[in-house]
Amino acid sequence: MKKSIWLFIVSAFAMACAQLPPERKAIEDAAAALGGKDRILAARTLVIEGEGPAPNLGQNTVPDGELPVWKVTEYKRAIDLANGRTRMQQLRTAQFLFAGATTQRQNQGVDGDVAYNVGQDGKATRAGDAAARERRIEMLHHPIVIVRTALDPAAKVTNLRQQGNEQLVDVTTAKGDALTVTIDNSTKLPSRVTSMSDNANMGDVAIVTTFSGYEDVNGLKLPRRLTTNIDKFLQFDLNVSRNAVDADAGDLAAPADVKAAPAPVPPAMVVTAEPVAKGIWWLAGSGNHRSIVFEFDDHLVLFEVPLNETRSKAVIDKARTLSAKPLTHAIVSHHHFDHSGGLRVAVAEGLTIITYRGNQAFFADLLARKHTIVPDELEKSPKAARFEFVDDEMTLKDKSMEVRLYHLLDNPREGTNLFAYVPRDRILVQADFYDSAWQQHLWGENVLWNIEHRKLKVDKDVPVHGAIEPFDQMVKTIKAKPSIPAAN
Ligand SMILES: [Zn+2]
Repeated sequence: MKKSIWLFIVSAFAMACAQLPPERKAIEDAAAALGGKDRILAARTLVIEGEGPAPNLGQNTVPDGELPVWKVTEYKRAIDLANGRTRMQQLRTAQFLFAGATTQRQNQGVDGDVAYNVGQDGKATRAGDAAARERRIEMLHHPIVIVRTALDPAAKVTNLRQQGNEQLVDVTTAKGDALTVTIDNSTKLPSRVTSMSDNANMGDVAIVTTFSGYEDVNGLKLPRRLTTNIDKFLQFDLNVSRNAVDADAGDLAAPADVKAAPAPVPPAMVVTAEPVAKGIWWLAGSGNHRSIVFEFDDHLVLFEVPLNETRSKAVIDKARTLSAKPLTHAIVSHHHFDHSGGLRVAVAEGLTIITYRGNQAFFADLLARKHTIVPDELEKSPKAARFEFVDDEMTLKDKSMEVRLYHLLDNPREGTNLFAYVPRDRILVQADFYDSAWQQHLWGENVLWNIEHRKLKVDKDVPVHGAIEPFDQMVKTIKAKPSIPAAN
């Protein structure tokens, strides 16, 4: 009798184990390694403090160069585990030449589906739904948060697979967010969390946070280092100075007026066309990335396809209303992401791309990338790209128009920058040289040297950023603000 009871117990236990699907078992094992399922479910808050570098994606001097870096200090992330709330505060300082504020305080939260930003004055304003989703997923890029979320019976845990000394399992949260958690086979601790995202320039990108240096904190194991990469680029390397479990996390709820406010939606895209000389239009409207159209004998040429498909498609459409002549070329001033965001749609629209030769490999890579998460026009109808590369200079000329293109030389910030000059009207067309609204003009002296070096007689600046201005005003503003002397 005694023996049969034991047999019953043993077989019931074996059945219970057998009933736990292997995916769930992987999560349960990770929970056990992190301090136990009960401890994880009982934890109320996490507070993480530290500092580290946060590179500025798509803003390097040359496409394969080092990314410029924000140095992040006073970083603090508080997480309310039970209520799905988090707040991130940090101070970031530019370690690179920058035209805007070189130190910036950021204070951003999400409370369920409500994202909000807190200004310097302490006032919170609601942020859009895309920010809410992004911040919710960012919160899941932590071993305790992802495992706790995966333990929720409402979460789906699927597709367990082995890779070397690790096992990977896909987690779809109760809210429908999809992530992959990778677990070390020997320690059973999560080694990283991966989520897929859409980037306007790079398309489908993996965002991967790697965890290392686990330490014991109040009954749980927490990583001392969280390194996040977007695709092959470092996004943030957080070195934790303090991990706390169930410490006072402050009030992370979105203020009532923020919750009551509707989520802001991006305003409708506006493109205006202002004639600046015969056969030259300045396309402005929404935002601070403008484009310029040049009218030749039998075709139009566009200078700049900025930001993303939405802006650039609207600009291309507008250019096509200005004349019966076909739009045939797009000049891409340089490789920075906010200036090359329309490269793919320009190719999809059949435009020949004119750019500095140093962008060749990088642009070929951007054009070859997959955009399946948010399919763009080029993904939907692939097209071979046509390029005309400029080495030092190139002149586009017929009876109606002459546009000279020059490579910006020896600039400390811009290695691939191409600018335009119209000798008939003494017009300078440029991106990132100068905007009267900038706080400082750190590379302004180099810009003036380049114009002198090319022996250009400029009367008017027609910019991508900022307002159209007389050139002597531009010179005055550059000279009045701190600037690095031209190296030449
Ligand atoms: Zn720019």
